[in-house]
Amino acid sequence: MQIRFLGAAQTVTGSMHLLQTSSAALLVDCGLFQGRRAEANQRNRNLPKVALEATAMLLTHAHIDHSGNTPTLVRDGFRGTIFATPPTVDLAHALLLDSAHIQESDAEFLNRKFARDPDFEPVVPLYTEVDARRALTRLEAVPYEQEFEPFPGVSVRFVEAGHILGSAQGLLAVKDNGHTTRILFCGDLGRKGLPVIKDPAVPTERPDYVVIESTYGNRLHKDIASSQDELVEVIKDTVRRGGKVIVPAFAVGRTQELVYALNQLEHEGRIPRLPVYVDSPLSTAVTKVFEKHAECFDTETAAFLKENGNPFGFRNLTYITSREESMKLNDLTEPAIIIASSGMCEAGRILHHLRNNVENERNSIIIVGFQAEHTLGRRLVERRPKVKIFGLEHEVHARVVTIGAFSAHADQKDLVEHARGLGPVKRFFIVHGEPEGAAGLKAALGAVGLDGYIPAPGETVALA
Ligand SMILES: [Zn+2]
Repeated sequence: MQIRFLGAAQTVTGSMHLLQTSSAALLVDCGLFQGRRAEANQRNRNLPKVALEATAMLLTHAHIDHSGNTPTLVRDGFRGTIFATPPTVDLAHALLLDSAHIQESDAEFLNRKFARDPDFEPVVPLYTEVDARRALTRLEAVPYEQEFEPFPGVSVRFVEAGHILGSAQGLLAVKDNGHTTRILFCGDLGRKGLPVIKDPAVPTERPDYVVIESTYGNRLHKDIASSQDELVEVIKDTVRRGGKVIVPAFAVGRTQELVYALNQLEHEGRIPRLPVYVDSPLSTAVTKVFEKHAECFDTETAAFLKENGNPFGFRNLTYITSREESMKLNDLTEPAIIIASSGMCEAGRILHHLRNNVENERNSIIIVGFQAEHTLGRRLVERRPKVKIFGLEHEVHARVVTIGAFSAHADQKDLVEHARGLGPVKRFFIVHGEPEGAAGLKAALGAVGLDGYIPAPGETVALA
């Protein structure tokens, strides 16, 4: 038996791991790789043959860096079933169709914009809505804590990961050559006390091997309270300057938590009442999924829902789905908060908002999620004086602020605590982190006597 680290090895995006037994192979996640355009293109369009030939697949959660390349996978030959929790299946419907739409409309936009440039090579979308719909027919929902067999010899149980609605760790019991080995794929791990969703759970059986993320493996988050103070300061400061607050955020997860936080802050009188726009064609679909899966909320949010109704709606909040309404936001003159996807500023409506607002010093851009290397989001975090958006350079005059505690990812302390709770594990495979994050977690695990190993991209490791 062996694991192949096909993606998200020493990087954070493009999650894809393959467990191969003597008779079959199980793919865990098939995410979009985000980074330098040419490399992203090359990697996303050319999935490894072993992934296409896998017997079945587990999807840990709906985020695009874990689910986003399944349309390519299915189109290019994968024949198996994709297992996921019920909320993940519902969110994947919304996210994959949206992702296909983004691929198609970005290609169309660029092809139109550069139509007269003789050196411009027309852009072909990575996949289309037809491909996404075909991939969605392969999804099969399995509730948390219910054992199932993707194929004979392997049984799986989804355990709460506390990262976004529906997020799961996959605990595998693999019978191979007469003995059973347990492997835990943590997926993305959340933090205790995050608003809305439940805390990550520790599986009851001890795993022999663990594949663990390390996005923030070298960092500690500030507490939620001081991050709220920061958010209040930026909003008030921007309002004083008469500007707009632009927040790139994943359509699922951060957006709902931000809306929840803004709702509370306004309620407490800490921020002025100003229009809030969630500009995402996904917003209605995603809000419906949240309403449908209230069983996955933590007790606090469940209580709020019972007393006050929808925790993701308030008077001055507008969810925007149509392109026309989205365009109208460009003409806004008064202060407002605009939350738009995608989280790493690589595609979607956020690009249009950044293009329109980045050069104006009255505006602020708040970065709330992790920004992978070479993405536009990362360049903003690094305070580059100029950034390229849709192929054209723009000077950055807006104030850029990073607020890490709204992250849905465990920090170093949370990760080590989770690892220690799992009992005597033979080895932790550290993935889903840039080299500093992965090395930081390895050192922190080592300090408490746990063995961490950082696989190289594409590496195959035999499991005893
Ligand atoms: Zn995630």
